[in-house]
Parts: sequence; structure tokens; C-alpha cells
Amino acid sequence: MINDADVIVIGSGAGGLANALCLARAGKKVIVLEQHYVPGGWCQSFYVDGHRFSPGVHYIGAMDIGQDGSRILEGLGIANDLTFFRQNAKGYDHCQVGKERFDMPANLNRLIENMQQRFPAERRNIKRYLQLVNLAQQELHVVADLETFTDFLTAPYRMRHLGKHALFSTQRVIDRYLDDPLLKAFLNMQCGNHGLPPNKAGFALHAAVMGHYFNGGFYPAGGGGGLVKAFTRAIKQYGGEVLTQARVTKILVRHDNGNPILTAYNSTTDAKSWRPLWCQMPTPARLTSL
Ligand SMILES: Cc1cc2nc3c(=O)[nH]c(=O)nc-3n(C[C@H](O)[C@H](O)[C@H](O)COP(=O)(O)OP(=O)(O)OC[C@H]3O[C@@H](n4cnc5c(N)ncnc54)[C@H](O)[C@@H]3O)c2cc1C
Repeated sequence: MINDADVIVIGSGAGGLANALCLARAGKKVIVLEQHYVPGGWCQSFYVDGHRFSPGVHYIGAMDIGQDGSRILEGLGIANDLTFFRQNAKGYDHCQVGKERFDMPANLNRLIENMQQRFPAERRNIKRYLQLVNLAQQELHVVADLETFTDFLTAPYRMRHLGKHALFSTQRVIDRYLDDPLLKAFLNMQCGNHGLPPNKAGFALHAAVMGHYFNGGFYPAGGGGGLVKAFTRAIKQYGGEVLTQARVTKILVRHDNGNPILTAYNSTTDAKSWRPLWCQMPTPARLTSL
């Protein structure tokens, strides 16, 4: 057996690293096992002919002071290790539909104004639709803060805009508010971020992604790799480890006096020669918390 750990995180993407750092800060001995030779998953950066590429980080939203993204990094203790640059506030995203182009401005009121100027016939509808998207995305936060009986009791009222539209597709909601197909195509540009066409994307998901970028896009110094460095450095500072070229192909759970022990194994070619990668220390009820 190579070693022991409290927690084994399989995969060093942004999700794995964020979870690993949370647990390491909480005092757990964390090991991250990554199959690739660099950590980071889609957040990694790589170089070709001296140029840096960050395939999965083009812009990150909600990074202004007090916004969700920024608060997450503060909570993880790595906000001071990172620098974010605001992307062009007049057009952080460019949407091209045929020969028509729309630049997405960073500010909801500015977005409403620009859309209204471009599509004057839909003035009122644009405002109503974008305000609905904004309310729906804000109301999603209510879910995260549900704690007391009163919170649960008042939630349906506090989430009424979301509740009314969340079960419908984005297509259905936008069709109810707007007519112009080009306008709808521009407003659906965030489908490129969640990856679903408007008729398959739930309105709540779409509103969340739109809301994430209402304040514009930000880019980390060092590209995606800058984020990965900040995460891995902090994990190591808290006694954790991030191993690369450690592909997990099998997870075994055995019991030692009733205590579950979880072992992550690797075998690339021969199924008989499983190589133990990392093992969790036995502690009662470990699996119930997984
Ligand atoms: C082309 C593209 C552009 C994007 N642009 C943006 C953007 O501009 N802004 C933004 O906010 N988001 C963007 N995203 C989304 C963002 O990059 C991803 O959501 C995020 O990086 C995913 O992190 P993750 O941890 O969930 O998964 P991943 O990054 O996929 O990480 C999973 C990791 O697990 C490893 N792994 C898998 N199986 C094993 C195994 N058996 N053993 C060991 N390791 C294993 C993989 O090698 C990988 O490193 C983009 C995504 C893509 C694909």
C-alpha cells in the first residue's frame, strides 16, 4: 500500500480541487489522484510554441467584490493568490448570427438598453424578459439559504418567479415574452456555456448561467493554469497531495473489524496486476459521509 488518507479525490478538475481544498482546510488528509500528467482538468493551461492555451477558461463571471465567484475563492482562502482582469465591459462576449452581431455588455441595465435600441419594437418585452431572468437567478440563492422552518415556509413566495417558470424550457419561456427570432437568438447565446439548446435547457439553468455573467466576464492572470496553481499550492500547504499520472481504474472497499477501508487502484493493461494508488484510513461510518 502506498499510503493512507482521510479522503481520496479522483480527478483534479476545478470541482475536485475545490472539494479537496475545502476538506484539507477542514483538517482532513486529502489526496487527489489525477490520470493526466498535469492537474486541472479543463482548467489546465498548456503551451504550444510559447503560446499559452487555456481550453476550458475563456471568462469567469460573478468575480466582483461580494459576488458569488469571488466569495467562493475568499472562502477557500485563495482569493489573495489570484488576480482577475475585467474583460471589455462594452462587449465581453460577441454573438454572431449569420451577418448580424451583438456585443454583450457587462451590466444588466446596459444590456436592456442596448437590446432595446437594436430591437425597438420589442422594447417592453425585452425589459420584462430580462428582469424575469434576473429575478429567477436571484431566487435560486434562496435554496442555498434554507435553514429555519420560516425559511421553508416563506420560500415559495420568495421564489415565486422561479417557481412559475422553472419547470419549463428556456424556449417556452422566451417564446412567451419575445417574438423576434434574431433577438431570441442573441439572448440565447449563453446556451453555448451550458451546452443545451433552448428547447432542452430548463429555464432555471439558463437563468443561472445568464445571471452568472450579468456583471461581465473576468479572466484569471496565468489563464486556467493560474487557478490550478493557486488550488494545488493551497492543498499542499494544508498537508494534502495532488498526484498526476495516477489513473483510478478500480475502487475496492474491504472491511477491517467493521471499519470500511477504501482503496483506489490502477491497472492499465493487465487486470490481474492492480496497483494500489492510495488507501483511506479506516474510521467508523466513513462511507456514510461519502
Ligand atoms: C471548451 C470548454 C470551454 C469552457 N469555457 C469556460 C469558461 O469560459 N468559463 C467557465 O467558467 N467555464 C468554462 N468551461 C467549463 C469549465 O471548464 C468546466 O466546467 C470545469 O473545468 C469542469 O471541472 P470538473 O472538475 O467538473 O471536471 P474536469 O475539468 O473534466 O476534471 C475532471 C478530471 O478528472 C480526471 N479523471 C477522470 N477520470 C479519472 C480517473 N479514473 N482517475 C484519475 N483522474 C480522472 C480527468 O483527467 C480530469 O482532469 C468550459 C468547458 C469547456 C469544455
